[in-house]
Amino acid sequence: MIKTDILIIGAGPTGLFAVFEAGLLKLKCHLIDPLPQPGGQLAELYPKKPIYDIPGFPEILAGDLVNNLMEQIKPFQPGFTLNERAETIDRLDDGTFVVTTNRGTQHHAPIVAIAGGLGSFEPRKPQLDNLDFYEENGVEYFIRQPEQFRNKKVIIAGGGDSALDWAIYLSDMAAELTLVHRRNEFRGALDSVEKVQELKRLGKIDLITPAEITQLHGRDRLEAVTITTFDQNNPATQTLKETDFFIPLFGLTPKLGPIADWGLEIEKNAIKVDNTLDYQTNIPGIYAIGDINTYPGKLKLILCGFHEATLMCQSAYQRIFPDKKYVLKYTTVGGIDGFDGSRKEAPKAVVKAIE
Ligand SMILES: Cc1cc2nc3c(=O)[nH]c(=O)nc-3n(C[C@H](O)[C@H](O)[C@H](O)COP(=O)(O)OP(=O)(O)OC[C@H]3O[C@@H](n4cnc5c(N)ncnc54)[C@H](O)[C@@H]3O)c2cc1C
Repeated sequence: MIKTDILIIGAGPTGLFAVFEAGLLKLKCHLIDPLPQPGGQLAELYPKKPIYDIPGFPEILAGDLVNNLMEQIKPFQPGFTLNERAETIDRLDDGTFVVTTNRGTQHHAPIVAIAGGLGSFEPRKPQLDNLDFYEENGVEYFIRQPEQFRNKKVIIAGGGDSALDWAIYLSDMAAELTLVHRRNEFRGALDSVEKVQELKRLGKIDLITPAEITQLHGRDRLEAVTITTFDQNNPATQTLKETDFFIPLFGLTPKLGPIADWGLEIEKNAIKVDNTLDYQTNIPGIYAIGDINTYPGKLKLILCGFHEATLMCQSAYQRIFPDKKYVLKYTTVGGIDGFDGSRKEAPKAVVKAIE
């Protein structure tokens, strides 16, 4: 059982910044996220896009903002349960919570902060017979350990940034890399499209367009796929291609998922909170911050998530230590005491006569 002060569900920017604010109050955090890396939408949907409305940053790439947040929270040593989705919540007699993931990992905390964004991202799946039989048996929707594809035959399908980026990355290690897309045009960063073109010319990527994977084959695991190639003037042709892996990268759709069944007040697919006070839900001790919550005037923006995370932590502190009075200290004055023993502080003023 993982124990912490604030259990944060969702490692997007809101959840990450909550770790920092909690750390200033000497509260420890642990985060759960079904994605393989922290950063939420920024890391998964638009890491290379510039953001222009983060205070103090006239322009910052989404991926860099995530890296900065990770650097900022490092002294507070947050724990992470990645690749797992928070599935159930149980309220114990003493008012604390146990949250269990889809893989059975249990987390115990007096405070739960749901920072689940648009919900958990589920991969868009192709409509293929027997697809579930081959899932994690040759069909993969996420590339968590690229090494598993070394010296293997790999087919990637998709026409966006992830399909292009992973095709480029894996073309270096796979025995054979095929990229299949149902259109001739790709929608991605220009340099990625050009790189794939170059790798095709060098014979490192077998590009098949416009085409789709239409059947999966294999007795115990995936052994081959049928590729149907379209041609405006001729009938579609079908080719059987041997492969070890088929990776459809058709994007992700967010779903509120299991959180919808936790007894929380839900309005239009978001969790209702008290924005006049602390972003607490209808269940005392459970907060909802960032894109996942709703209240009058709500804006789904990163900076709003940061603000909500800050107020949530203050309220959480009062719940955990009802008898202690917290006095707000500026970081410029109080500095930062990391849980790793590190200390950051502004240089102290000295009292010295000038002769
Ligand atoms: C293309 C694009 C461009 C954008 N540009 C801007 C911009 O310029 N400025 C701006 O302010 N905002 C922008 N946004 C919006 C911004 O990305 C969101 O406001 C922000 O990501 C919200 O952060 P969050 O941490 O609340 O949620 P998210 O970033 O969505 O993170 C939530 C995390 O929770 C996880 N999660 C969900 N359910 C569970 C569960 N059951 N268990 C465990 N984990 C779970 C998810 O996997 C996800 O990682 C943009 C969004 C998009 C899509």
